[in-house]
Amino acid sequence: MTPVLETNGLAGGYGELSVFHGVTLTLASNEVLGILGPNGAGKTTLLRTLAGLLPQQGGTVNLEGRSLGRAQAWQRARAGLVMVPEGRQIIPGLTVLENLELTRASGRSGSDAASFNTRVEQAWELFPRLAERRHQPGDALSGGEQQMLAIARALMMQPKALLLDEPTQGLAPIVVQELRGVLQKLVGRFAILLVEQNRAFMAGVVTRSAEMRDGRLVAI
Ligand code: ATP
Repeated sequence: MTPVLETNGLAGGYGELSVFHGVTLTLASNEVLGILGPNGAGKTTLLRTLAGLLPQQGGTVNLEGRSLGRAQAWQRARAGLVMVPEGRQIIPGLTVLENLELTRASGRSGSDAASFNTRVEQAWELFPRLAERRHQPGDALSGGEQQMLAIARALMMQPKALLLDEPTQGLAPIVVQELRGVLQKLVGRFAILLVEQNRAFMAGVVTRSAEMRDGRLVAI
């Protein structure tokens, strides 16, 4: 089976600064790879490079066997490589529903009204609290609800591979448990790359783990 996400010798950083290099990984659609590592190890930089938010310094990224070349972030998202950023990046002045509606402009297949509505219904099913609060502005949500909204927004893009950057950050333990339940429901639908510092959370979700150490990804 062709892996969903495959990197070979991927390298990234900022300008002249190299943060990680030689990252070679494969991820099947039923896998969840967890990436641990201390602050500043380069985990976010890796995800941002995969998502096309930073230029690759070297190496290749394939999605379902096709090279993404130098595709930009919007092209990668449209192709199905979708990131849920650290800090959620919800648009505060827009309602929950409007935050989801933003994805309609992505041009991903099935953005017609009927399939959009179906996906919104699926989001409400997975996140009943968001359904209740659909007409409230993003900044009226709790941290946990904002994280759920960030994930719901990514799901609207029908990802083939989902990149999650520290989703438990700043969340109360009870919300972290809820989030684990949500992720467990998503396993098997698409490949997931999960960056986390919360080992206990990660252990309940991932199928494999690795650690970012000295700019390299090491299997653990
Ligand atoms: P954290 O858990 O704190 O997010 P991380 O493993 O995700 O840690 P990164 O945020 O990827 O680490 O940072 C890796 C390195 O890149 C750090 O040394 C950091 O200082 C540096 N860095 C991060 N953002 C920038 C930037 N915009 N410009 C230059 N260097 C940066």
